[in-house]
Amino acid sequence: FHILVIMYDISDIINVKQMQIDFLRNASHELKTPITAISGFTKTLLSGAMDDKKSLVEFLKIIDQQSDQLASLVQDVLTISHIQNGTNYVYKPLALHDFVNSELKSYDSMLANNHLTIHNQIPEHVEVNTDTTILTRILRNLVSNAIKYNQPNGEITISYDDNDSYWQLIVSDTGIGIAQKDISRLFERFYRADDSRTKQKVSGTGLGLSIVKEMVDAIGGTIHVKSQRGVGSTFTVEFPLVDEDSQTDSEN
Ligand code: ADP
Repeated sequence: FHILVIMYDISDIINVKQMQIDFLRNASHELKTPITAISGFTKTLLSGAMDDKKSLVEFLKIIDQQSDQLASLVQDVLTISHIQNGTNYVYKPLALHDFVNSELKSYDSMLANNHLTIHNQIPEHVEVNTDTTILTRILRNLVSNAIKYNQPNGEITISYDDNDSYWQLIVSDTGIGIAQKDISRLFERFYRADDSRTKQKVSGTGLGLSIVKEMVDAIGGTIHVKSQRGVGSTFTVEFPLVDEDSQTDSEN
């Protein structure tokens, strides 16, 4: 029995070590890709391509997009340490439809490049009491996955629902979907489903959803996934309804 326990512990350690090695490899690759693109296109511009207005705009767009990706990866790593250090949440009323619209603006070129359409179906009158930083990180991770794992001419829909105890943010896509065996592991740090690593060759670190889950847990919410391979996925985040008055009290 003792030996079994030790073996179990060792294999656990090996798994964690392997995942950390994979993570470092993925993260370095992820960092290298945008840096190479930014530096390459900048050098091309500086060595003459700048004189051609069309190339100038085209290359600047790529540089802009790649810098965003770089910032997002660094943000993910920072968010992990932020959550681990404990965070103070600040709840404020927010017009959800407009907030989502303004967030979606930064995805315009990514959507156009991938021939994707996005629909904001959140009713305009909806107001939620929420921590904007947390909501932003959750939304960005889910939307960028819905883009990355979509199919050409695909669609993404963002919608809202509520009841007496929670409100829901629902992000659904018509993408590659997720195999049943992967669904229970999606929220593990570093985990990436086989389809996205091998078939689709989409780059990523396997960090995004683990961060989403940690944030959702931290604010007392839940997250569910429904998915069918080749058809699409729906991620539903439930945010507990926070009483504004009690929030004000606890802040004083
Ligand atoms: P990353 O996208 O960096 O790999 P995530 O933690 O955000 O990491 O996602 C983990 C895995 O879950 C992804 O590698 C992918 O296999 C799968 N996944 C996440 N979102 C979707 C989606 N909308 N459609 C299909 N697969 C998804």
